[in-house]
Amino acid sequence: MSYILKKYSVYFLFVFILLCISCQEKKAVSRTEFVIGTICSIKIPESESSDRILNECFSELKNLELILSANDENSELSKVNNYACDRPIKVSSELYELIKLSKKIAVQTNEAFNPAIGQLVKLWNIGFDNAKVPEKNEIKNALTFTSVDNIELKGESEVFLKNRNTKIDLGAIAKGYLADKLVRLLKDKNVKSAIIDLGGNVFVLGKKFFTSNNWKVGLRDPKADSNDVFLSLELSNTSVVTSGIYERFFIKDGIRYHHVLDSKTGYPVKNNLVSVSVICESSTYADALATAFLVMGYEKSLNFLKNFSDQKLDVVFIFDDGTYKTTNEALILH
Ligand code: AMP
Ligand code: MG
Repeated sequence: MSYILKKYSVYFLFVFILLCISCQEKKAVSRTEFVIGTICSIKIPESESSDRILNECFSELKNLELILSANDENSELSKVNNYACDRPIKVSSELYELIKLSKKIAVQTNEAFNPAIGQLVKLWNIGFDNAKVPEKNEIKNALTFTSVDNIELKGESEVFLKNRNTKIDLGAIAKGYLADKLVRLLKDKNVKSAIIDLGGNVFVLGKKFFTSNNWKVGLRDPKADSNDVFLSLELSNTSVVTSGIYERFFIKDGIRYHHVLDSKTGYPVKNNLVSVSVICESSTYADALATAFLVMGYEKSLNFLKNFSDQKLDVVFIFDDGTYKTTNEALILH
């Protein structure tokens, strides 16, 4: 009798623990903070360690911001931009790794994505109070410094800028890189599902909380003053990154100037695209390529995709007449 009781009490204890665990995991917790110049939010299942994990995620974001920001004069990247023209500068593995990949993608995209565009970006300063349309000769001058060949990597950790006026800007790839870093961190902590949203740069980890369903991710309607969803995608374990002409801009004499620049002309890119969303497991690639495709336009992007095998990716192109085209209709929820 006492043996049976003992046996059942162990069984009940086991069921009780399981129930506790499942009860605990029925809630998701999210945290939102303004970091890396944008609103970042991370949502994970609630657990004993979820607070600690979220703390670690935001510490990681803040640490990486100190490395990668082109707008913070004290960042490691600013140090490179200010001093790496005198002599090669030894940098952190993160900065080295991201500059190396940026150079590679710049070559692959024929500089549609161009990390050496910093001087031109500062000239326009779009997104800041003192944004202005530069003089034609200022643009012409800045374009002489934007070849990615001016960024040289030496050994395993050094960066050298061959031209004093070449400045690196990682704004078109950094958020993707940060999202990938967070995904790795969460996976290391055994977090199975999460939503990471770094100012619209989204990664959905695993399946929707407490279900076996894919996540539903909405793409914003690209009309400047709209927060409506243009279309929704059904996704799991992947990133969705959008580059759009409505994100940051200013209007001068009735003309809208947005923040994605063509480093061949020096002006905000102009074609029939209003936004490009790239869906890719690597958020770093998704970010860089969303920018590159916006610059390339639809036809050139399709040609690029024919020869690109580094990553598996899908794309949604939204046009100025309100229509869209995608490389994978099956992802779209109708
Ligand atoms: P995204 O929103 O990812 O398309 O990145 C835009 C940001 O990247 C801008 O705010 C600039 O800092 C920088 N940028 C602008 N044009 C380019 C370009 N053609 N290639 C690389 N970075 C760019
Ligand atoms: Mg980008």
